[in-house]
Amino acid sequence: MLLAAHQDCKLRSHFFPLGMHGEARARARNPFHPAAIESTMKAIQVSRTGGPEVLQFVDLPTPQPQPNQALVKISAVGVNFVDVYFREGRYPEKLPFTPGQEAAGVVAEVGKDVTSLKPGDRVAYSSVQGSYAQYATVPADRLVRIPDGLDDRSAAAVMLQGMTAHYLLHDSYSLRKGDTALIHAAAGGVGLLLVQMAHHIGARVIATVSTDDKAKLAREAGADDIILYTRQDFEAETKRLTAGKGVDVVYDSVGKDTFFKGLNVLHPRGFMVLFGGSSGAVPPFEPTLLTQKGSLFLTRPSLNHYIITRQELEHRAEAVLGMVASGKLKLRIEHVYPLAQAQQAHRDLEGRKTTGKLLLLPHD
Ligand code: NDP
Repeated sequence: MLLAAHQDCKLRSHFFPLGMHGEARARARNPFHPAAIESTMKAIQVSRTGGPEVLQFVDLPTPQPQPNQALVKISAVGVNFVDVYFREGRYPEKLPFTPGQEAAGVVAEVGKDVTSLKPGDRVAYSSVQGSYAQYATVPADRLVRIPDGLDDRSAAAVMLQGMTAHYLLHDSYSLRKGDTALIHAAAGGVGLLLVQMAHHIGARVIATVSTDDKAKLAREAGADDIILYTRQDFEAETKRLTAGKGVDVVYDSVGKDTFFKGLNVLHPRGFMVLFGGSSGAVPPFEPTLLTQKGSLFLTRPSLNHYIITRQELEHRAEAVLGMVASGKLKLRIEHVYPLAQAQQAHRDLEGRKTTGKLLLLPHD
């Protein structure tokens, strides 16, 4: 009778291993509990790489956590440009896979070795593949608690892009008060956070954007000067704005279309922080080019290498979530889609139609 009831409710409690924690089992037996676990879930799956059309909305078995993992019932998924690289095959991934590197939700179940979390805890994470789904298994040491008072959508919106802005400004290059920074794609997800944080540090921010509407957003975020790089030559404009002196650092996520000109606007021994390739990858070049341009420094960093240890992840996540909770960092979450519309979300992101953060909602 009980098993039949479970099947009716599509709960998977009768599949649970013997070692499953009693509390999680109890939750799973209650179909009305918010963390009740269905045996199948909706997810996006990529079976071949390509355009947005390869993002297929499918039913998959709800995954079971390994001993060191937690099963997260996802309430909001962050969409990031890196998801495009994986979808296209620019970053390799074994097929088929569920894309997505960022989410927030509630712990539904924990593996037998997990002591730091329990079902019902509100958590967020980044940099673990598979978040375009209703559930995901995540190593427990990659999950951070969402502070009271901060909603899931905000947490999902800021984990990856916020921690990225944080390490880019504090660790890839240590931005100081009085520095001048050129920030490309300043009205994008990372861009709006970078501009705000750089402004708080006291740096002068020169921002590039493609449209007047995006210029307004970058200005509101704290940019001192705006360049419409689709209409103006950003190299000439940056030189003009700095009276020929050049900038201390360029934060370049656009890549192919901006990188080489960006080297021309750095003063000698300036820093090029190339952290993405929204327009395409930068082609190979001779290192002596950096000598010719003024003994420049170049880094091509990844967030993964700036949240290696649990301590570093906690420090960065707490800093960023704290800034959002206190209102110091403002989020722009204008583009929210049901999970089934992941294709449209990618089209909008790649089509330069979006500003700030894009979210997918898997239970809508
Ligand atoms: P964005 O919201 O910034 O979207 C990309 C933006 O890039 C567009 O809105 C557009 O702004 C600009 N852009 C310029 N040229 C193109 C083009 N040809 N096609 C598409 N977009 C273009 O995305 P995210 O905030 O998610 O990511 C920004 C970048 O940061 C990405 O390159 C991503 O890979 C990188 N990143 C790197 C990380 C790292 O650790 N290395 C971590 C997180 C993100 P506009 O219209 O104003 O030109």
